[in-house]
Amino acid sequence: MIIERSQKDKDLVYLDIAKSVANLSKDPSTKVGCIIVDKEGGIHPGYNGFPQWIEDRSEWLEDREIKLMLTIHAEVNAIKKAGKLAEGGCLYLSTLIPCQNCAIQIVHAKLSRVVAWGQVLPRRWAEDMTKAKWILEQGKINLDIIGE
Ligand SMILES: [Zn+2]
Repeated sequence: MIIERSQKDKDLVYLDIAKSVANLSKDPSTKVGCIIVDKEGGIHPGYNGFPQWIEDRSEWLEDREIKLMLTIHAEVNAIKKAGKLAEGGCLYLSTLIPCQNCAIQIVHAKLSRVVAWGQVLPRRWAEDMTKAKWILEQGKINLDIIGE
């Protein structure tokens, strides 16, 4: 008997990996993780955090203004790690829809698909996510949201 896995089965496993990667974030309130699965099946993880050469000081991580100023989003970290391998790959995101800036980076990196984890997010993000969806559409990137 040949055992086959559906795309949905694979999506759920990769989303679980993205959610695990989120636990590496040192952000005390918002932990976001993602993985890029390249065309060869290679996995490139990313999570939100400060640039490599900036110390992860707890007083900065707890100060919202400083934290937002210094934080690189999970998607950008994964794209940077994947480099050219990101092209044609699929990004699995532990949270719902990338932000507007990450959507632009995703289009620029020529990813083919984004799979996001369906969840309720704060209303303040709604406008940004609507723009992000539009940007992904313009870049012809498929967006699939998988519910809990
Ligand atoms: Zn972002």
